[in-house]
Formats: sequence, C-alpha cells, structure tokens
Amino acid sequence: MMWSIHNHLLLLIAVTCCALFQPLHAAWISGEEAIMGTKVSVQLWHQDKSQGEAAVQAVMEEFRRLDKKLSPYIEHSELALVNRMAASEPVVISEEFYRLLETSHVYSELTKGAFDITFASIGHRYDYRKGVKPSDSTIDTALPLIDYRNIRLAAANRTVSFEKPGVRIDLGGIAKGYAVDRGIELLQQRGIGHALISAGGDSRLLGDHRGRPWHIGIQAPRDKERMAAMLPLVDNAISTSGDYERFFERDGVRYHHIISPKTGRSAGTLQSVTIIGPNATRTDALSTSVFVLGAEKGMALVNRLEDIDAVIIDEDGEMITSDGFTDAGSQ
Ligand code: ADP
Ligand code: MG
Repeated sequence: MMWSIHNHLLLLIAVTCCALFQPLHAAWISGEEAIMGTKVSVQLWHQDKSQGEAAVQAVMEEFRRLDKKLSPYIEHSELALVNRMAASEPVVISEEFYRLLETSHVYSELTKGAFDITFASIGHRYDYRKGVKPSDSTIDTALPLIDYRNIRLAAANRTVSFEKPGVRIDLGGIAKGYAVDRGIELLQQRGIGHALISAGGDSRLLGDHRGRPWHIGIQAPRDKERMAAMLPLVDNAISTSGDYERFFERDGVRYHHIISPKTGRSAGTLQSVTIIGPNATRTDALSTSVFVLGAEKGMALVNRLEDIDAVIIDEDGEMITSDGFTDAGSQ
C-alpha cells in the first residue's frame, strides 16, 4: 500500500516537472507578410500556440503602424507631411519620429555624411521599377539640397524644419531596422526568448535556435539561388545592403537605390555590404553607410566600431571581412 502511494506521488511529481519544464504544446510558430515594400517574417518559440500566434500578429501590427507613419508613399504619413511642410514652417512631430530623426543625425555625423536621409531630395526622382532617372542637369541643380545639415531639429518644441525649399527626407535606410528592433522589444515584453524577425535585408535574433545558433545567409549578389556565406549568430542583428535589390540598367550603367550624397547618383562599386551588430537600427544604418563609403573607408569605420563586424562583397565578387572575423578565427 505504502509503495503504491509513494509511486503515485513520484509519478505525479515527474508529470508536473515535465509540464513545467517541457510544455506539451511548445513549438516554433512563424508568419510572413508583405509590409514596408518587403517581406516581413517572424519565427518564434512559444509554450502556447495561440499566444505565440498572437505575438507574431503583434509584430506585424507594429510594422503596419510604422509603415503608416514613415512611408514616403502614403499621403498622410507623418513623413509625407514633413516633406510637404517643413521648408515653409517648423512642423511639430511625434516623439518617436523626432527620435528617429535624431538617430539619423547621429549616423550622418558618424559616417561623415555617407548616411544622409536628405538623399531623397534627388532620390525621389528615381523610379527603379519603371527605369526612370533624373537628368544630369536636374541632379546638379538639386545636389545642394542633399545635406543633413539642411534639417533643423528643435527639441524644446519637438519640431523639424528644412533650411531650403526642395529638401526631402526618406527613412528607407533605417526604418526597417528600427521596425525590427521594435518587434523584438514586443516579443521580449511577452517573455519570448527565442525569435527571429526579418524585414528584407534586416534581421535580428533573440536568443539562439534552442541549443544551436541561428544560421543567416548572405546572398550571392549575382546569383539569387546561391548563398555567398552562412553565419552562425546568437542574439545579434544583421543587415545587408546590395545593388541587386532595386535597380535597372541603362547603357551598361547600373542604377540602384543607394545614393551617394556627394554625387546624387548610385553609390560606388560594391555588390553588397553585410553588417553584424547589437541591434537592427544600427546595422541597417551602417550597411547603407558602408555601401556608400566603399570598401576601404567603410571597412576602416567598421574596424573602429567595437560592436560591429562586416562582410563586404566587392565589384569582383570577392569577399572582404572585418578584423572581428580574423580575431575570432585565431582564438
Ligand atoms: P534595403 O532597403 O534593400 O534593405 P538598405 O538598407 O541599403 O537596403 O537601404 C537602402 C535604402 O536607403 C534606399 O532604398 C533609400 O530609401 C535609402 N538610402 C539610399 N541612399 C541613402 C543614403 N545615402 N543615406 C541614407 N539612406 C539612403
Ligand atoms: Mg540599410
């Protein structure tokens, strides 16, 4: 009799432990949607399927919210309003938008102007799908409009104004990374410890892939079917900027969507830049910046930044890696 009660108790304890430590319904849950002109995908581990699915939806909802606020293509977005009004008068903006403008300013200073959201003063005249580009004289006339110092921020009233008529901004070089970070924050608030959010070329990982690292591929720029490299990552963000996402060719010239603020034309000669760092806002801004800076200046910047590593694929398809890779290999 005693034996049997004892055994039952043990069994009960064992079952309870299993329920606590290895929930019966824990699973990987994923979702994918087209938002912000790109493919947004979320993958996460959750003990409860319906809560996991709700978390995926919360991330998608956050992306939709930010798209409505930051898109240059949505007439009533905050960004579109600023582009219409800020050359005539200071415009009061939301705290979130103000912070993003401040962050953009930080990256403009850090990269000596390679990152510059006023690139849009000329950038908006390109239509990569239709193969439309501005004429040389249009570019030359509008070039002085591209300068982040044309943006005036006033913290006291939380306003933004432009120094010159014709200045335009676009957060396409940082908004997706920011949205990925916001999504990760939402998942953390829900107690999720293993997740991947990616929006086109910008991804961030929460934790590992349960006992092993996540593996994120760097696409071969001239072969959609092939990965140039696979990187094992844990708790990191990774962004790739390439000349192959949005582009058209005319007379042997490749016109793509990363603009050199110095020339108002597609930047440099690299095929792609991948940045690995602590958050996706940072890796997004820096992947665009290093693409503009080119291999030499770009890699010099990366090697000065302790929390950043990079893989550059140059004009010949050759891979160049930052010091962090060599250091890791020699340990
Ligand atoms: P993707 O949008 O494919 O992820 P990137 O992160 O490299 O690629 O961002 C490219 C986008 O950044 C462009 O589509 C444009 O909106 C914006 N952009 C282009 N040139 C610059 C620049 N010099 N500084 C800041 N943003 C830029
Ligand atoms: Mg970027």
